[in-house]
Amino acid sequence: MSKLALYGGTPVLNAKDVPEEMFHWPIVNDAMRQAQLEVLETGNMSGTDISRKFEKQFAEWHGMKYGLAHNTGTNALISAMYGVGLGPGDELICPSVTYWASCTSALGLGATVVFCDILEKDLQLDPASFEAHITPRTKAVMVVHYMAHPADMDAIMAIARKHGIKVIEDVSHAQGGHYKGKMLGTIGDVGAMSLMSGKSFAIGEGGILLTNDLEIYRRAIRFGHYDRIREVYSKEEVAATNTVPFGGQKFRMHQVSAAIGLEQLKKYESEIAEIDRAMKYFWKGIGDIKGLRMIYPEDPGSDKSGWYASRFGYDPEAFSGVPNYLFCKALCAEAPGFFSGCNFPLHKSEVFYTTDIFGHGRPTARLYLPPEVDPRQLTGELPVSSVINQRVLGEPWFKHFDTQIIDRYIEAVHKVAENHRELLAEKTEEAAQGNIALTHRKK
Ligand SMILES: *Cc1c(COP(=O)(O)O)cnc(C)c1O
Repeated sequence: MSKLALYGGTPVLNAKDVPEEMFHWPIVNDAMRQAQLEVLETGNMSGTDISRKFEKQFAEWHGMKYGLAHNTGTNALISAMYGVGLGPGDELICPSVTYWASCTSALGLGATVVFCDILEKDLQLDPASFEAHITPRTKAVMVVHYMAHPADMDAIMAIARKHGIKVIEDVSHAQGGHYKGKMLGTIGDVGAMSLMSGKSFAIGEGGILLTNDLEIYRRAIRFGHYDRIREVYSKEEVAATNTVPFGGQKFRMHQVSAAIGLEQLKKYESEIAEIDRAMKYFWKGIGDIKGLRMIYPEDPGSDKSGWYASRFGYDPEAFSGVPNYLFCKALCAEAPGFFSGCNFPLHKSEVFYTTDIFGHGRPTARLYLPPEVDPRQLTGELPVSSVINQRVLGEPWFKHFDTQIIDRYIEAVHKVAENHRELLAEKTEEAAQGNIALTHRKK
């Protein structure tokens, strides 16, 4: 007689018994409803007055001089790349395990992406691997604060400064997070992030760029914000080109997103404080299980703000070799909301090596490199990135400190851990999937 719900045992918690608001995101209040209606009714969806107010408040929250609202995080990131001067023949170093938008648009700038490894202990960019991948062509590094955890900025900044490399922070997974007391996105030369509806700071579709560097801000405007070019460039500088954006892009934020963002700013910190309390309570209940490891920064003043897509370490050896996806399947049968694996390692995608995107008859990633330079060889093997998918699991993303429900989740983890041997009979060859559940919708 099986104990595990996966094989017919009684589940610890049925999906229908989980209160809908436990996972629903973002939390919508009347002020948000009102704010978006106002934009709609004033006929000002494509204006910039509300977006400017939003970017100003967002920058102030970070203690930064300039904030520039964008229509997506992907575009805030390419603005940051262009902002630091990334262009043809330059290399951008990026951790292999991240969402594609951290780096892929560099190819459109004529640059090449060189991947470095991550650390198993915290899933963040490995500073030693970053340094090992530097060449004379390295222009910038994309530091992703991956899955809500801060990257090791002291080490990264020291290496970057030593080699004259610009630092871009991708804060899409960790809005409002801290590294040793400093806000993420304020430590490198420029920060950029997604604010789309699945992320911790959720406003719909949207992104924002933050910097204290006037030249980066000016270039970001010049690339994709035609209607603001005259504000930062002199008459003489605009004369020959007029306000045609150099990127040929239009990155203006939708004002409904900005209006929601202004309301989000008022309540965000209290919401993520509750998430933090809930997640830490959960870990207090399962932290002593051998083979499961909470991933959380140790430095004082560092945190895991929002716990977006949070992952924890899973050691298959501690569970008689049961693979993570199977352990996850058993967990989800007991109580819904766990995830397996993490993002697909980008260094395994041919887009960055051989794909001829524009029909030049040559791989796009090598278009402006000296012919003897092969980005695949520059990247190398990346041992952690290649296997990390099998060594992590994702916690349920609790939005509320509801101990009655979280206690059941704790019970579910203990139950699967104690009965994991039942899983040894499973023959499935199903691969670990790197899917991140982004949206939690009302049914
Ligand atoms: C979501 C995400 C982006 C892209 O943001 P969009 O707003 O979806 O364009 C970039 N980087 C990371 C790490 C992300 O998770």
